[in-house]
Amino acid sequence: MSGFVFSEKPIGIDRGEDVYLYAKNGTEYLDFGASYACAPVGHCHPEVVEATTEQVERLMYVQASYPNAARTALYDQLADLAPGDIDNVWLCNSGTEANEAALKFSRHATGRSKIVATMQGFHGRTMGSLATTWKQKYKDGFGPLAGDVEFVPYGDADEMREAVDEETAAVVLEPVQGEGGVNPASSAYLQAVREATDEAGAAMILDEIQTGLGRTGSLWAADAHGVVPDVLTTAKGLGSGLPIGATLVKDWIAEDCGNHGSTFSGGPVATAAAGATLDVLTREGLPGHAAAIGEYLVGELESALGHAVREVRGEGLMVGVEVKRGANPILRDLAMDHQVLALPAGRSVVRLLPPLTVEREHVDAVVDALEDVIA
Ligand SMILES: *Cc1c(COP(=O)(O)O)cnc(C)c1O
Repeated sequence: MSGFVFSEKPIGIDRGEDVYLYAKNGTEYLDFGASYACAPVGHCHPEVVEATTEQVERLMYVQASYPNAARTALYDQLADLAPGDIDNVWLCNSGTEANEAALKFSRHATGRSKIVATMQGFHGRTMGSLATTWKQKYKDGFGPLAGDVEFVPYGDADEMREAVDEETAAVVLEPVQGEGGVNPASSAYLQAVREATDEAGAAMILDEIQTGLGRTGSLWAADAHGVVPDVLTTAKGLGSGLPIGATLVKDWIAEDCGNHGSTFSGGPVATAAAGATLDVLTREGLPGHAAAIGEYLVGELESALGHAVREVRGEGLMVGVEVKRGANPILRDLAMDHQVLALPAGRSVVRLLPPLTVEREHVDAVVDALEDVIA
């Protein structure tokens, strides 16, 4: 029996260690998708395993209305690491829930309903987040979704300025679109979004669920662009694979956020895993490492693949290779012939999101494999 939603691949995975996943028969796979970017410090990092195991033995769950050291420590850590004057933390269990909360808080605090989102954007699959997601395929047959969403072309500051008005509760966007094809935004564009939302009294929600936690070369992509949003969302790698998301919020929204809640909000096991993940990330300077090794990766890809692909683009260790034919056959050959796992982003982009612990030798192996499959 297998699940009915995901189409499974013919590779059973049994065990993980740092940048590798292993099948039961011992076959070793280089995980250059980090399993949907969920292993920023590598699979089963010993420090994360230890903190999580210790917490499982102590207490697996207590409701969020009783203070607990693992949860309180994560509130402090995230508030401390969040950009600028973002000081309030809401914890949940996934990326889509983090965005769902961001949308609810922004509507409540502004007393407005209109949301501006971007074409090719991806924000999750629950009804509210799905309404702000662009691709029709994800929405077919599920309507009506939460209404009052206007889509604007990503990267066009004039269109953004025109769409954001006195009725706008929030703009939601990614600093680099992930699912949409690995499309980075410029600092000028993100700053224009910041100005337009400030002028209109609307919230700027930056979805850093894929770009955050060092992936693009700074702890948050916002840091590198000199932008402090009103709300920043994170999830994916936050708990090194345990389900946890966070909505980081400025005071003016936190003070008037309305009624919200979740049974598992800040459960001690997930918060212990997240705390240890952030400790390793910051102590080992992994965002800076991602910047350096990402630059090496893009350089090597460009010189190896050259005219065989349309474009190599990205920031840090969030890299897209736009190929001239479908990405899926390439991903299959990479996995079956070279034991390299990566992700698609749409039909024609091979997406690389390795653990931030990868070294040049791993990059070289992946570039060789891609050269063999593509060129
Ligand atoms: C993955 C992702 C989400 C959704 O996260 P889930 O945990 O799958 O709900 C939202 N936004 C972005 C940018 C993502 O990459």
